[in-house]
Amino acid sequence: MMKKIIVANWKMNPATLQEAKQLFNSIKKSIKNIKNTEVVICPPFVYLPNIKSQISNIKLGSQDCFWENSSTNRGAFTGEISPSMLKNLGCQYVILGHSERKQHIGETDEMINKKVEVVLKNNLRAILCVGETKKEREAGQTKKVLKKQLEKCLKKIIGLSNRQLANLIIAYEPIWAIGPGGPCSVSEALENILFLKKIIARNFNQKIGKNISIIYGGSITSQNAFDFLKEKEINGVLVGSASLKADEFASITKQAQKI
Ligand code: PEP
Repeated sequence: MMKKIIVANWKMNPATLQEAKQLFNSIKKSIKNIKNTEVVICPPFVYLPNIKSQISNIKLGSQDCFWENSSTNRGAFTGEISPSMLKNLGCQYVILGHSERKQHIGETDEMINKKVEVVLKNNLRAILCVGETKKEREAGQTKKVLKKQLEKCLKKIIGLSNRQLANLIIAYEPIWAIGPGGPCSVSEALENILFLKKIIARNFNQKIGKNISIIYGGSITSQNAFDFLKEKEINGVLVGSASLKADEFASITKQAQKI
């Protein structure tokens, strides 16, 4: 069975570097005996250098990155962080297209597409978030929306090598299930994850579609994590608020050990 991937998205937390180090150290201590599970912590950019030096059996990820690797004739990019900078800090994963970035910052599928391309070209692992809103779900448009998001966000990667494409991970995150609204039922998550795998195999690359890791995100806790992780086709979980409590997050990673 494929290794389960457990991703912590700390979002814009915690408030200080000291707390970030404490949280990381507590997680590290609690999961030191974890085997056969890929644990990825994605702190805010500013904490990455300090957490990097402490990395052990935990992989490091960022919550976003820019679509250029350096200043080019297309421009200079004040405030942005490039994939090569992240790589230099020991990051191996980059979350892309999180719904909060679309909602609050206006990130579009076209921007996300460019980011996925540059991340994969840098041999980093891209965790591309896709998911429908409550309104779209209620209108019975979930599959149509997911297909469109995949088509737009993966458009520019069709020509990449199989080795680069193998670094693509999809996070199915129904927007209505993130935070207080969720979670989604396991059967509904599974149905949509199988649909995403089918679309990737059919429209992009059959081999990648067959082997791609698709993880679920939305209100995961230590109480419900096992129900998702036990499904063979759900290759892991993306954890938001529960990843800010070391015991809770450690307990989620331990659920993956029971399978
Ligand atoms: C997320 O923001 O990606 C997420 C899954 O959040 P939460 O676990 O808090 O629902």
